[in-house]
Amino acid sequence: MFWLKPSQETSEHTGSYYAATANWQTDYPQLQGEVQADVAIIGGGFTGVNTALELAERGYKVVLVEANRISWGASGRNGGQIIGGIGHDHHRFEKWIGKEGIRRIFDMGVECCEIIRERVAKYDIQCDLKWGYGSVAIKPRHMREFEQWREYQEKNGYPHKLELFDSQGIKAYVNSDNYIGGLINHNGYGHVHSLNLCLGEARAAESLGVQIFEQSRVRNIVHGPRPEVHTDQGVVKAKYVVTCGNAYMGDLEPKLACKVLPSTSCVIATEPLSEAQIKQTLPADIAVCDPRTALDYFRLTADKRMLFGGLSNYTGLEPNDVVGTLRKKMLKVFPELADLRIDYGWSGQMGIGINRLTQLGRLSDNVFYIQAYSGHGVAPSHMTARVTAEMIAGHAERFDTFAKVKHMSWPGGKLLRRPAMALGMMYYKILDEL
Ligand SMILES: Cc1cc2nc3c(=O)[nH]c(=O)nc-3n(C[C@H](O)[C@H](O)[C@H](O)COP(=O)(O)OP(=O)(O)OC[C@H]3O[C@@H](n4cnc5c(N)ncnc54)[C@H](O)[C@@H]3O)c2cc1C
Repeated sequence: MFWLKPSQETSEHTGSYYAATANWQTDYPQLQGEVQADVAIIGGGFTGVNTALELAERGYKVVLVEANRISWGASGRNGGQIIGGIGHDHHRFEKWIGKEGIRRIFDMGVECCEIIRERVAKYDIQCDLKWGYGSVAIKPRHMREFEQWREYQEKNGYPHKLELFDSQGIKAYVNSDNYIGGLINHNGYGHVHSLNLCLGEARAAESLGVQIFEQSRVRNIVHGPRPEVHTDQGVVKAKYVVTCGNAYMGDLEPKLACKVLPSTSCVIATEPLSEAQIKQTLPADIAVCDPRTALDYFRLTADKRMLFGGLSNYTGLEPNDVVGTLRKKMLKVFPELADLRIDYGWSGQMGIGINRLTQLGRLSDNVFYIQAYSGHGVAPSHMTARVTAEMIAGHAERFDTFAKVKHMSWPGGKLLRRPAMALGMMYYKILDEL
């Protein structure tokens, strides 16, 4: 692991393409003294901001407390890919939630993308939203999996067009010799400037009365009939608390920390492509992923840079040379980009759960948690926010669909769970190559 190092974080946004092109720099005050609220929210990524927004839309007085800046974590650093579906292989959860629960999760996996579509329109959020997505196949078995996936979606009434293409057909979307075909989702999945989406949602929440505090790390939650959220200089006293710190929450609540493993993923953004280079790479301007454990994901930004991500690992460390390592991966897919300058390179942490279903639940009667999207949370975080607001408003059915599923702790305790998972991931990477 000599080529890995801990990432150097400050409490300002990381040096990403997103931060450099953000619509505005947030400058919310630090929490000082005592504040009262109906709901206190910890963490200002997609999960926290959208939970606040959903609650404010329902008339609640909400206070959101963020350790760094709004969307400083995974929400402001990701690939910007809007991918529906929440969790995989839902039949595993039937013993807890029955067939109706599985159906509900399927439907929420569709609704989560629609929330983004509606929210962007309702609040006029400028975030380069674009529809169109492709899953690309490297092995023949990937094509069989895509075919089965399409059949499953269609059987369940998925409302958007899904189309399979062979190695020639896929080139109209992803012009690379690396792939033997792919499945295109024309209008249900897409891509977005994720930091600007989250900032726009924060502004919408603020316009509905949500009080936002930045640079205010929550050090302690005091549980009780009226729970309290303590920072170094202030306290929020609320009827309810929702923790949304995900992979960045550390040991604030040890019961949650042992169920979510922070895992690193890295992204680069090139200088803008010429028209000819766009035709040679992503002529249809869609977002793309391959189906491997340590997958490549890529898309064009609004100013036509190639934003290319990958290199997921469970060590929680980042490569010494994010740009050099990811550039090599990008050139394997698109060798014609060899002369392009790389303008940005960064990494971030995503929360991985063992069974890969997002974890929602109750730490007590009035303290709730949402975490562990397992690498795929841009759209699902909009859904978990909605069901948590519904639950607080007295309609717990959809929240409880998630809350009934049992989630195991990562084995190995605090010291050994990382090396154990890094080994596990290596095993899956080897399987991917077969
Ligand atoms: C590099 C990368 C690429 C990704 N690409 C994609 C993609 O293309 N598509 C996709 O669907 N998903 C992607 N993901 C995953 C997705 O970004 C996340 O699942 C999602 O953003 C999680 O949102 P969140 O709000 O739960 O967590 P975060 O965005 O991480 O927000 C958590 C926030 O909580 C704050 N916080 C933590 N502890 C405290 C505390 N004690 N007090 C106060 N605040 C606290 C943090 O500062 C942080 O701002 C990617 C993730 C990464 C890292």
